[in-house]
Amino acid sequence: MKVAVFSAKPYDEHFLEQENSEFDHQLVFFKAHLSPQTAALAAGYPAVCLFVGDVANAEVIKTLAESGTRLIVLRCAGFNNVDLLAAEKNSITVLRVPAYSPHAVAEHAVGLMLALNRKLHRAYNHTREGNFSLDGLLGFDMYGRTVGIIGTGMIGSVVAEILNGFGCRLLAFDKYPNPACEALGVEYVSLSDLYQQSDIITLHCPLLPETHHLIDDQALASMKDGVMIINTSRGAVVDTRAVIEALKTGKVGNLGLDVYEEEADLFFEDLSDRIIQDDVFARLLTFPNVIITSHEGFFTRDALTNIARTTIGNISAFESHTALSNQVTAEKHLA
Ligand code: NAD
Repeated sequence: MKVAVFSAKPYDEHFLEQENSEFDHQLVFFKAHLSPQTAALAAGYPAVCLFVGDVANAEVIKTLAESGTRLIVLRCAGFNNVDLLAAEKNSITVLRVPAYSPHAVAEHAVGLMLALNRKLHRAYNHTREGNFSLDGLLGFDMYGRTVGIIGTGMIGSVVAEILNGFGCRLLAFDKYPNPACEALGVEYVSLSDLYQQSDIITLHCPLLPETHHLIDDQALASMKDGVMIINTSRGAVVDTRAVIEALKTGKVGNLGLDVYEEEADLFFEDLSDRIIQDDVFARLLTFPNVIITSHEGFFTRDALTNIARTTIGNISAFESHTALSNQVTAEKHLA
């Protein structure tokens, strides 16, 4: 099948071509994001392959359908960038990769915790500059510390397993407690108890209307002084302006972000010779106790292999009219 792959990076090309070697799909890679301005590039392609920054709104979907596209294959789990109702109306099937490696994201979240706690980002620079003093590098034992996990699905439950190995006391909040976490000894508590008791709070819930700015002024005020917050879920779960104020007063002692509310204008690109126009993001970069990574939680060889395998499998299943186990529909997913 002829597939236009949008937002293609060299690693996408490598992993998709590797998995495609046993198939004969014709993958054509475009660096551009899919948008109303670039949708015409897909003319004549029965399938388009998209990532998180591509926009498949009603206007784009109409253009795609009019020029022969019948399949949108997402190389990610989230589908908030696709208008599912418009896709249905235009007879375009939407397939995704529901799971690829919860370990990749969970390990990255724990990596941020350890780096912030022991100030590895600062220590790295100190020693390279011949500064072997320990001043400013004091951390704490993870053993015995209380960690609050918000969202104990695939990723949150792996975080619980890893931190259980460190000897942390684990609290969690989720609408649907996970029996695997309960078996591990995780205590499900109310959000307010989790805020009050946790030394570290790590976010693993999806971005939904109810979780938008979950971490706001009020939530921050009820947390322990010097709390560490880790967000590898979605940027808008945290009210960035509120967290900046809490960093200024010391209420938040450490902040680790792999996601940011306005990341679409920044992440995944090399902007090192440009001036950052986002003043909120620029302020975050000034704090010594903040580490920001650019949405790389998923970025392991294992996860990219799984993403590519499922994506190529999805294209093949659609082409051969076999059962579509990874289909996203408005009826099932917008209920
Ligand atoms: P999942 O669906 O397995 O788990 C999400 C959990 O959150 C579920 O248990 C659900 O019940 C819970 N939840 C829903 N609403 C909640 C609420 N209001 N409060 C608390 N918990 C709530 O998803 P997952 O695979 O574990 O992924 C979690 C999130 O991680 C995703 O939604 C995505 O935003 C993010 N993610 C980030 C990266 C990255 O590279 N940084 C990669 C993949 C996923």
